[in-house]
Amino acid sequence: MNNANNIPVIKDIVLIGGGHSHLSVLKYFAMHPVPGLRLTLITRDLHTPYSGMLPGYIAGHYQYDEAHIDLRPLAQFAQARIYHAEVNDLDFENSNVICAGRPPVHFDFISINIGSKPGALHIPGADNFAIPVKPIDRFLTQWDQLTDKITGAKNDFHLAVVGGGAGGVEMALATQYRLFQLLQQQNRSNDFLSIDLYCDSDRILPTHNKQVQKRFSHVLQQRNIKIHINHRIKEVQQSYLLNTNGDQHPADAVLWVTNASAPAWLANTGLDVDAEGFITVNDYLQSTSHENVFAAGDIAAVVNHPRPKSGVFAVRQGPPLARNLARAVQKKPLKAFSPQKNFLGLISTGDKYAIASRSNWSLEGAWLWKIKDWIDRRFMDNFNILPEMAQEETPRFNHAMADKQTLHEISAIAMRCGGCGAKVGSTVLSRVVNRLQPITRDDVVIGLADPDDAAVTEVPAGKLIVQSVDYFRSFIDDPYIFGQIAANHALSDIFAMGAEAQSAMAIATIPYGIENQVEDQLFQTMSGALDVLNASNTALVGGHSSEGAELSFGLSVTGLANREQVMRKSGMQAGDVLILTKALGTGTLFAADMRLKAKGRWIDAALKSMLLSNQAAGFCMHDHGATACTDVTGFGLLGHLVEMTRSSGKSVTLDLNSLPIMDGALEMIKTSIFSSLQEQNVRLRRAIKDPGELTAHKHFPLLFDPQTSGGLLAAIPADNAKACLAELKELAYPASVVIGKVTDDGESLENVTLIAD
Ligand SMILES: Cc1cc2nc3c(=O)[nH]c(=O)nc-3n(C[C@H](O)[C@H](O)[C@H](O)COP(=O)(O)OP(=O)(O)OC[C@H]3O[C@@H](n4cnc5c(N)ncnc54)[C@H](O)[C@@H]3O)c2cc1C
Repeated sequence: MNNANNIPVIKDIVLIGGGHSHLSVLKYFAMHPVPGLRLTLITRDLHTPYSGMLPGYIAGHYQYDEAHIDLRPLAQFAQARIYHAEVNDLDFENSNVICAGRPPVHFDFISINIGSKPGALHIPGADNFAIPVKPIDRFLTQWDQLTDKITGAKNDFHLAVVGGGAGGVEMALATQYRLFQLLQQQNRSNDFLSIDLYCDSDRILPTHNKQVQKRFSHVLQQRNIKIHINHRIKEVQQSYLLNTNGDQHPADAVLWVTNASAPAWLANTGLDVDAEGFITVNDYLQSTSHENVFAAGDIAAVVNHPRPKSGVFAVRQGPPLARNLARAVQKKPLKAFSPQKNFLGLISTGDKYAIASRSNWSLEGAWLWKIKDWIDRRFMDNFNILPEMAQEETPRFNHAMADKQTLHEISAIAMRCGGCGAKVGSTVLSRVVNRLQPITRDDVVIGLADPDDAAVTEVPAGKLIVQSVDYFRSFIDDPYIFGQIAANHALSDIFAMGAEAQSAMAIATIPYGIENQVEDQLFQTMSGALDVLNASNTALVGGHSSEGAELSFGLSVTGLANREQVMRKSGMQAGDVLILTKALGTGTLFAADMRLKAKGRWIDAALKSMLLSNQAAGFCMHDHGATACTDVTGFGLLGHLVEMTRSSGKSVTLDLNSLPIMDGALEMIKTSIFSSLQEQNVRLRRAIKDPGELTAHKHFPLLFDPQTSGGLLAAIPADNAKACLAELKELAYPASVVIGKVTDDGESLENVTLIAD
């Protein structure tokens, strides 16, 4: 079903790239939803830097969130799925978008807004020694390293900026401003730092008028930034640049801000591209070769209206692109868009001062920067401050979107049976199963490949069977990631017991829909689960699927263990330390995500933690002599800890200050956003011995925060704790930490003592 309403998905538009044009597309569909239309945004980065504010961000005038648009809440506001992935191909034969690291994504229409990257990066040495200014997120990481390197430099440092367009000039000035500020804070002179600007044309800012060029030449001169015109760089080395005349220039770091170029993969997709590899589009922003493909921003070359690659044009193309996508999907005639020829450019000089440029006219002043700042902030508010949306009561889809077969399938959905009839159809199921490739194991006698009534597995002599089941509703609109997390969550019980997972049975409820949608959802969910099962050498041996109101998925997992290998909750010994392997916070973060209050990067980090298998941690705990172990899930840290203390007859002291906390969790708790399970979990606070003022400790509420695919909590003999922690970190459980210790007085019902050391 489409989130916006309870009617099936009929058409899929896949938005590739979260660029400036797609911001408006998302906003447009949020305000004008098309029932039956599903949007999916696939983006390499979750935060789009607003081009107008980028130099100001580099100069230090803006914080990260002031200069970036958070795509996750915006996409959710538009009821769009957001997939954090990089697209690297298009499969027109099967109507699939191909991404790195996840199954293909079906499309009926595609819109491409993936920006560009600096050109000429293929010259010798550029790969190793030049820092391209795009992709911007990667640049920003390198920029932080570079500022550390430069501010820590003991000798003369030569910084080269290659590219004399607006981007290069702004970058040189912003960079210098920021570095000088940092050096001043350290009471250091800036004499040792020189900045050189290289451009291959005979003047800087060649696409702007002479006045603008003059003004900027003057500013650069005043700031001791040396301009090198007619310098085409042909090689970059660790400490110098070479130009085509053979001149060598010192360069300890090189920022690469040359003309925009297109990613190479596009040219191999079959789409029409121009000589430089940009997608050629007509006046409707529609590909000249594929009528179900649209493109905008830097990546598009509008055949009839060539314009410079600039954020301004990408922004302007957003609304017409959105309208044409909505029209195309509803089979309405498209509307031509003609971009204006001239536009007002406000180019900053690094120091809260700007120079205006429009055709043959120019002005400058600090007041212009103030106006630019005001315009830019207003633009950002449009996308970062999202209004509450009222849901339409009984939306109807435009019948033009669906063909005869689809209409027939939609009418059949209303008459779906319950009971066995609620099963996913056998052809859909067998098509999905045929596409899955579960691992095989010698101890699986009858598995998925053999059509029988039940799976049959062997229990090797001397082994015990360890069994567990988990099943829950999807909390994210990404079936592939959900499948992975659900599988990790289910396997975690087995690993917490110190067992090896042998086989699993899946149970899936797929939202009602037309056949190909049901098949796709099932396939994506199962693929996610299977990736995790296969990675842990667990054979998928069967399952059951049905259709229902919403996507839910779970697994029944069977593990194997030697009797002496089994770790239980009940073995804690006085003197043991408590080790937790993952940070807390998924409950509050995903409650906030549903309300569009969580930042995309917090959710991304939380998802990464949930995708981390507990397998290696379980074996590590066992090897370091764990006396008790459990996984932290729905009852929260305290709930699961109390299960351990009560069954072990021991007490524990828990240090609130040591709890590992996910980014954003404290902020969300401060705004009183909790999971719906929090209240039930809080009832267990009676196990805490007089917490006194520690109830006001900022970490206190996180004791009750329910976790999905949370970490392992184990009691480890104190002597082994150091080695165990070191190994956990090596095994890529970076949040692992000692959070408390086990004491002996296990009589009282209040057997958890809180401290804040
Ligand atoms: C230093 C500098 C300063 C600039 N200053 C200005 C300015 O002041 N004003 C101005 O108008 N322009 C400016 N520009 C130009 C401006 O940045 C670009 O023209 C603008 O960003 C292009 O926007 P876009 O929407 O095409 O793509 P972008 O804003 O670059 O967005 C591309 C998006 O696509 C995603 N993406 C990329 N590849 C993939 C993939 N394969 N799969 C999935 N997602 C992908 C990225 O993560 C990103 O979300 C500046 C450029 C630079 C380098």
